[in-house]
Amino acid sequence: MKFQRKNFLQDVERFLASDYATDIAHADTRELYNAVSKAVMTETYPARKTREGKRCCYFSAEFLMGRAIFNNLMNLGILEETGEALASVGRALGEFEEVEDAALGNGGLGRLAACYLESAATMGIPLDGYGIRYRYGLFRQTFEDGYQHEEGDDWLKWGDPWSVRVERDAVEVKFADLTVRAVPYDMPVFGYKNGVANNLRLWSSEPVQAFDFGAFNEMRGGRKAEENFDATKICDVLYPNDNTMVGKILRLRQQYFMISASLQDLLGKYKAGGGDLLAFDKAYCFQLNDTHPVIAIPELLRLLRLEGLSFEEAFGVCRKVFNFTNHTIMAEALEKWDSLAIADLLPEVYEQIACCQQRLEKEGLDPAKYFIIRDNVVHMANLAIYVAAKVNGVAEIHTNILKTETFKDWYELYPEKFVNITNGITPRRWLLLNNPKLAALIDEKIGDGWHTDLKQIAKIKPFIADMVPAFQAIKGENKRKLAAYIKEHEGVDIPENFIFDVQVKRLHEYKRQMLNALSILYFYYGIKDGTIRDFPPTAFIFGAKAAPGYYMAKAIIKFINEVAKLVNSDGEVAPYMRVVFVQNYNVSYAEKIVCAADVSEQISMAGMEASGTSNMKFMLNGTVTLGTMDGANVEICEEAGAENNYIFGATVDEVATIKRFYWPAEIIEQTPALKRALETLIDGTFPDETGCLAKLHESLTAGHVPDRYLVVLDFIDYVRVKEELLRDYGSEEFWKKCLINMSAAGKFSADRSVQDYARLIWDL
Ligand SMILES: *Cc1c(COP(=O)(O)O)cnc(C)c1O
Repeated sequence: MKFQRKNFLQDVERFLASDYATDIAHADTRELYNAVSKAVMTETYPARKTREGKRCCYFSAEFLMGRAIFNNLMNLGILEETGEALASVGRALGEFEEVEDAALGNGGLGRLAACYLESAATMGIPLDGYGIRYRYGLFRQTFEDGYQHEEGDDWLKWGDPWSVRVERDAVEVKFADLTVRAVPYDMPVFGYKNGVANNLRLWSSEPVQAFDFGAFNEMRGGRKAEENFDATKICDVLYPNDNTMVGKILRLRQQYFMISASLQDLLGKYKAGGGDLLAFDKAYCFQLNDTHPVIAIPELLRLLRLEGLSFEEAFGVCRKVFNFTNHTIMAEALEKWDSLAIADLLPEVYEQIACCQQRLEKEGLDPAKYFIIRDNVVHMANLAIYVAAKVNGVAEIHTNILKTETFKDWYELYPEKFVNITNGITPRRWLLLNNPKLAALIDEKIGDGWHTDLKQIAKIKPFIADMVPAFQAIKGENKRKLAAYIKEHEGVDIPENFIFDVQVKRLHEYKRQMLNALSILYFYYGIKDGTIRDFPPTAFIFGAKAAPGYYMAKAIIKFINEVAKLVNSDGEVAPYMRVVFVQNYNVSYAEKIVCAADVSEQISMAGMEASGTSNMKFMLNGTVTLGTMDGANVEICEEAGAENNYIFGATVDEVATIKRFYWPAEIIEQTPALKRALETLIDGTFPDETGCLAKLHESLTAGHVPDRYLVVLDFIDYVRVKEELLRDYGSEEFWKKCLINMSAAGKFSADRSVQDYARLIWDL
């Protein structure tokens, strides 16, 4: 976009006057943010380019977009100019750091969707997102007495200047008991300096009737009022649970709502354009991001049959347009619905699912292995695999597990359906934007081709030895900035010469924040009793939200906060350690943390983390991985060399064998330092009137399946490798390892991922 300061400032003044009756000198940050965004939208939105021809629609319950303004200005190529224009009138772009994130997602899965939209726009791939415009995003997290507290995330209080409400595309979505109006809000997804914008369409639910005074007088708390209430409630809140099911019926309503609205919209326009329904796949394909949008399959069947297609004809279309991505092997995340629930709420949709089951049966397949409905339960993943053209896992090891275990039988039936597409991250947000100094250093050495072709970052290899001092200086500055931010927001002092050892991701037992926490106690007591000497000064930094209903995850947060209090208030260990759990970890916090980390902790039990993407963000910013052979860590080691990272723990194969006779009590008895760390959960070291710490202890040591995620098993190896890493820190060799990782991150660009999808799955 061409930027003209005078016109831009005039537009801003005009919007401030008309919308807020103020001017640049007096506007508050929110007003200025809205006016600036609107001025940019006014210039760019009508002029945006999109590609003609077939499009792919990315159906996802989550899009974790983060803060839009800086990324949009960067991609439009006007970040600096806008900053200078604001500075010329006494304001600063930095003020918009206050603007809250659009957190319409939980974690990795939602962030992946956001990265893919940006990468597709940049690569000129016609990919549009379809989801829900939640009124409240992922909860805001604070800590009180070390316990997690949740507050509603009222993200719209900042306004939504990057979206356009498209009234004319509104449709009605019908449930058995209720009809609601779905109104789309379109948000442009700007490609990086190429003038392209793809679209993210988020649906909002509203009552069907406009406000009716007659009805209002009549009802007074009666039935009409309830209907109106229900309509908006569908989009009220993002389910903060990424891998278990809650509020089942409302969740089903959400899924159907966004899917039915999207498909009616797409099919309606296709028909209006005179398209042949049997050739629908020539115009569209659909990517189902996990099981949440799988209800799209029976919904499209229903819509096509309403148009007069036979079941087999409609089924044939579905087999060509749908593709399915699996994100986790955890059984509780492969959604299942009570048949009656679907049949009650969506009878015509259920009919189509039943037809799919019948079709499957007619093929004469073994009913013990192949079913969609069984014992009155609908298995959404099975429905997806049966119908989809392609099914993909998100890292090589994950896809292999899908083929050999999770979906073994289906793989035997349809080997050609299964493909791997390793996840990726956009290098624009995760290096150019969050770490501009490092990006400039790379540009200086190898030019800027890597911005849109990350493989080129390998060209930095010959410069690595020379770059170390400049890299150190940049990392040092990023660390100082993060430390200042943490001091301000969390009240914890972190000296800048400390190693920054970071674990940030959703809180889950399988991700094993507990392993990290126990190692900290091990170091702490070792320093206290003199068995560990000259410990390299280290700050252990955590960030994570726990699902509100996930008891153990919340107990782990409490535990780590108590460990932090113990360590940080002990003058004797102060020269060696700090621990901080940052509040409300989100995309914007991640941007600050990722560029300042010295150690990236990726320590899930092998086999559990499908891919991980924060591991890639850290790698790209020049950080070594301390991790298990899990998810994309395996490919990180392939690309950057295991010798340049710090790998420990049981492998997937070992986990499978060990689990059969695993009994942690023995290991605990033989490892006094671990035993001592575990005892703090029950010996009164930490105050806990709720008893959650004792429950945590029990989960690791007792019960039917003690220590499900092998924390105890991997502890010794973890601590050994972690200490080795911390002692390597600061050497010339260590800095080179950081840069070798950065130089080897080319594979993990989301540009590569979306190109793989386009070639192997979407046929674009
Ligand atoms: C990248 C990202 C994630 C995913 O982290 P993993 O460690 O891969 O689970 C989660 N939350 C936020 C805010 C992110 O930016």
